[in-house]
Amino acid sequence: MTSHSSALAHPFFASALLNWYPRHRRDLPWRHTRDPYAIWLSEVILQQTRVKQGLPYYLDFVTTYPTVQQLAAAPEDEVMRHWQGLGYYSRARNMHHTAKQVTSEFGGQFPGSYAGLLQLKGVGQYTAAAIASFAYDEQVAVLDGNVYRVLARVFGISADIAAPASRKVFQQLADTLIPAASPAEFNQAIMEFGAIQCTPVKPDCLFCPCKVNALLFSMVWCRSCP
Ligand code: SF4
Repeated sequence: MTSHSSALAHPFFASALLNWYPRHRRDLPWRHTRDPYAIWLSEVILQQTRVKQGLPYYLDFVTTYPTVQQLAAAPEDEVMRHWQGLGYYSRARNMHHTAKQVTSEFGGQFPGSYAGLLQLKGVGQYTAAAIASFAYDEQVAVLDGNVYRVLARVFGISADIAAPASRKVFQQLADTLIPAASPAEFNQAIMEFGAIQCTPVKPDCLFCPCKVNALLFSMVWCRSCP
């Protein structure tokens, strides 16, 4: 870990992102709901799928199956028809299975915590953290490809993100960064920042809020910035 992760840098990073997010975020329908079912649907659909491609599928699913019970009760071939064209068809089958599990084992209610959500088939650490923070404001940090990249660049971490030991390093860092007062906003912000500003190729460093704010504090912030 470098000097970038100093006690001063942590709150600074969160506040820079939280300032940036409302002015730059894309207006997406799953950001207007606290319903864990709708949030879960969006997360399943967006796995390995671009937002532009997944958006009409999300709107179709929440309209056709407004509740997890309705999705669970639908015939599998009908669910697969709605999924047609999105690819990775095992996702649709697993999604249908999870809907049935929520209905049969949890009375149609998504578990109300990160730990509880991990009991669902096909819900891993990332999805559980996303639902728990977006729906319940639980202070648990998400780690996806965008978050790994942003943290690695800003905090100068060179560890291989595919290694299990590295995941722990990133998770610990993200857990210290996420503010108790706004965990949902912070998780959304860091993922959006990675998706549209700190992109894999040609990040927009010139107008980076981290860099600009760091200069005000006379701090060297992001070493990955060209
Ligand atoms: S300065 Fe560039 S590389 Fe660093 S966080 Fe900002 S956009 Fe990403």
